[in-house]
Amino acid sequence: MNLSELTLDREGLAAAIACEDAAFNEALSEEAYRVKVATIGPEVYLRGLIEISNICVKNCLYCGIRRDIRCPRYELSEEEVLATAKIAAGRHFGSVVIQGGERTDPAFIRKITRLIKAIKAIEPSTEGEPPLGITLSLGEQSREVYEEWFDAGAHRYLLRIESSNPDLYRKIHPDDSLHSYDRRIKALYDLKEIGYQAGTGAMIGLPFQSAEDMADDLMFYKEFDAPMIGMGPYNPHPQTPLTLAGAPYPSEKRRFALGLKMIALLRLLMPDINIASATSLEVLDPRGRELGILSGANVIMPNMTPEDKMVNYNLYDRKTLLRDSHSSLVEELESKKIAIGYGQWGDSRHFRKCPDPF
Ligand code: SAM
Ligand code: SF4
Repeated sequence: MNLSELTLDREGLAAAIACEDAAFNEALSEEAYRVKVATIGPEVYLRGLIEISNICVKNCLYCGIRRDIRCPRYELSEEEVLATAKIAAGRHFGSVVIQGGERTDPAFIRKITRLIKAIKAIEPSTEGEPPLGITLSLGEQSREVYEEWFDAGAHRYLLRIESSNPDLYRKIHPDDSLHSYDRRIKALYDLKEIGYQAGTGAMIGLPFQSAEDMADDLMFYKEFDAPMIGMGPYNPHPQTPLTLAGAPYPSEKRRFALGLKMIALLRLLMPDINIASATSLEVLDPRGRELGILSGANVIMPNMTPEDKMVNYNLYDRKTLLRDSHSSLVEELESKKIAIGYGQWGDSRHFRKCPDPF
């Protein structure tokens, strides 16, 4: 396939996804990077990732911290989260992401509300810098809870749809009301209506997933008009039902290539949105996140979770081997003249309701 033959409709996207020609993939990444620089500039924005807890009420069939997996559980204290956020502010990251297993108990919800307010109150380390921007990724909550957290100061929320195909969604989740595709969709629209920059995404290279499914995921992002996307390769965890069931999935090499390709295609489809270069790319290749940036992504989330806890946020195989290598990553990007947008929220240009004043 030739780049000039690429069309950005379902058929064209599926053909590009299925194409394994290395020259095509390389040309696609180069074109996506060119479009990114021309549309939103060369900067990469950082979000310090704080994995607040691996306790989860849900049982997604692919996830290494699902409720029924036996593993040491942890929850960061408010002091630990604040201390980590202060480090992010001191390094001029501009934003933090608070991510964790899904919990809907009132004690957890109130804790998050207090933390959002306390993080917003951290004095910026340089005059003129905004207070830290806050992205949440804490799963499905009631509309009231989303409102409470928005009112407290969170302004972005990442809730992946995981797969936009309801049949595939059903295959990778337990068949009960806690894991409902329709509920997930409703939560996404609640977030958007409340005023969050509502980001979504899907896993790439899942068992049972076709090129058409992945093309549909891209079309879903476009239809939802998502201002930011965080998607990444599926990586198996040895103890999950999805792995144990033995359903085939693409090789590491193929999942990595697909991860880069989905970023590049999305950049062409939605040139002015924020696209994260996911951690799950780095698991498959030590230069994964950097290559994600060179394929059109513009956001990186260095992991700031305290190391003794990070080892138990073990979503998939080899996740525990990942250490915060962001300083070498930053050096690598800077050596390629890719600037880091320090001290800025780095909001998506696509999002009009809440323009970044900085
Ligand atoms: N619990 C929240 C939720 O599910 O939205 C946020 C935390 S959850 C660990 C964050 C993301 O991890 C999920 O959206 C899912 O896509 C991803 N994830 C979980 N297991 C994975 C796996 N085996 N491979 C790749 N990504 C995975
Ligand atoms: Fe829980 Fe999120 Fe993992 Fe599902 S993907 S089991 S909701 S942490």
